[in-house]
Parts: sequence; C-alpha cells; structure tokens
Amino acid sequence: MSPRSAIFALLALLILVSVLPVQAGERVCQQCGGVIEGARVEVDGVCYHPDHFTCAYCRRPITGGYTMFDGLAYHTNCYERNIALRCAHCGDIINGEYLVDHWGNAYHPRHQRDATQCKYCGRYISDHLTWGGETYRDGRHICGLCVETAVSYDSEAAEVMDEVAAFLAEIGIVVDQSQIDLHLIDLVQMQSKFGKQSHNLRGYVDYREKSTFFGAIKESKTDVYLLTGMPRLHAVATLAHELTHVWQYKHGQMENDPTFSEGSCNYAAFLVLLNYPGEETEYVVESLLADEDPVYGDGFRRVMTYAESVGTQNWLARLGENDKLPSGY
Ligand SMILES: [Zn+2]
Ligand SMILES: [Zn+2]
Ligand SMILES: [Zn+2]
Ligand SMILES: [Zn+2]
Ligand SMILES: [Zn+2]
Repeated sequence: MSPRSAIFALLALLILVSVLPVQAGERVCQQCGGVIEGARVEVDGVCYHPDHFTCAYCRRPITGGYTMFDGLAYHTNCYERNIALRCAHCGDIINGEYLVDHWGNAYHPRHQRDATQCKYCGRYISDHLTWGGETYRDGRHICGLCVETAVSYDSEAAEVMDEVAAFLAEIGIVVDQSQIDLHLIDLVQMQSKFGKQSHNLRGYVDYREKSTFFGAIKESKTDVYLLTGMPRLHAVATLAHELTHVWQYKHGQMENDPTFSEGSCNYAAFLVLLNYPGEETEYVVESLLADEDPVYGDGFRRVMTYAESVGTQNWLARLGENDKLPSGY
C-alpha cells in the first residue's frame, strides 16, 4: 500500500468508528461510552448501564436512593457518613450556609442564637466538641478545652508571673517581682474597681510611689490585678502586658501617650507569646492583631512596625525615655 492509500484507509476507519455506535434511538452510557441495550438508568437526562451508575465514594453501583452533591452521585448512606458537612455543635448535616470558626469547625448559622460561645477560643460550647464548658459566677462562658488550663489559684498565677517575668527579662524588660503583689479577681470586681481603666477588663496595674520630704522616692508599691479563670495563654499575655506597664512606671514614664504605652505592652505580650508556639497562640496573636481599638489595636500595630524597623533595644530605650512614638510611626 502506498503511503497515500494508507492515510485514506486510516481515515475511513476513523469515520466508521465514530459513526457506528450512534444510531437513531440508541442510548450511550455516560460512564463507559458503550451502547445501552436493555435496562438503563436515567439521571437528569443522562443514561447509564445499570451497573455503571456508581457511587462517587465507594464506586459500587447505585440501585436505590442516592444523593447528588457537587455534580456527583452518592449512595445516601455514603454521602451522609463520609461526604456531608456536619455541624461541629449539634452533629447534624449542614445544607446551605454555615459559619466557620478559627479552628475550621463548621456550624449551622442558628447556633449564633441558640448556643453559647466560649469567650476565650470562640468555639460553640458542646459536649463532643469542647467537652462541655462552664459559666463562671461573673457570667463568663468558658469551654471545657479552655478551662483545662484556666489560671484560678494564686499559686498558679504566681507561677505564670515568674515564667512571664523571665521571658520579659530576656527581651530587656526587667521587673523586680519582690515589689509586686499579684491579685486574682473576677470580672465583677475588675469592673467595679477599675472599669474602663483596665486592659479589656483582664488586668490592671496600681503603682504608687511614696516620696520623702525632699522629693526622693522612698518606696513604691505595685499591685497587679489579673482576671481569674482565664486560659493560661491569656493569663500569660495579660501579665506580660501588665508587667511592661510596671517597667514603664519604674522608668518614670507615668504619662506615656496611651497608644505608645498600650501598644508597647501588647507588643511585649506578643514577643512573650512567641515562646509558646502552637495553634492557641496563633489565635491569641491574631486577635491582638485584629483588634480595631485605636489605642490597643492601632497602638500595637504601630509599635510593632516601629520596633521591627529600629530593633528591640531601640524601641525599649525610647519607651523608657520618651512619651510618644517618633513621628512617622
Ligand atoms: Zn456503561
Ligand atoms: Zn457508596
Ligand atoms: Zn448544628
Ligand atoms: Zn474555649
Ligand atoms: Zn495596658
């Protein structure tokens, strides 16, 4: 055969093959492309050999009921057990819109109204997701995961303060703990004692100096108040914040511009949190960074930009000597 007739024969064969199976009245299986003779399954106008209509999960033929999801067919059982999105709060299947928390849990939107959210991690409290939870006498809701590490006793709080003071000292923020009295108080006490002065009602520093007749400082007394029952990492962040205030006061910076002062305390807390790597820390840091408050949030972001450009030592030098961020930050 000459090359030319070989090409012709090939073309003829191709045309024959493509024409042959499709004849009027015949149906083609969507799955295998073969002609269907006899029984067939028809789904949304598409035909299959009965055993070629299969479940996208287990690959076995579908004979009874099925569920379509994302354009694929599943045995209803396979879908419900393996594919369907389930609510992390009630365990039921989610159809339609849903909420997702920081941890990737999906919830029915109605739980915004009928469920209780943990104040410290944002999860909706339930037996299987959070091992239940508690409501403190001051009204705070905390989930079973967060309550595991809650700092509720003086001895625990003192331990956390030791740890935080050591991490702060590594940065260059050295405070003398022997001059500090630490007090755990609940939200009601925090509100009535310090109200809006306290840092998000989580902590407060009461620093007092007694001067001699000639003006020299005779003694200073520092009381640090910590909201009781917070998960350990939140207590760490709060104490790092408050101890940085103590350091500023000791340097005579009593009247710092709040943006510089609070922003620096949050930045110090952020640096301390870096010693506790993990998902929980990321969550705490993300909420610090996302804080829209013009003092705590903006202040933190501005101080961070400043400290990262001039270095930790220069930031601290400025914090101990000046009451404002330099212009441009
Ligand atoms: Zn087929
Ligand atoms: Zn299946
Ligand atoms: Zn639900
Ligand atoms: Zn929680
Ligand atoms: Zn503060």
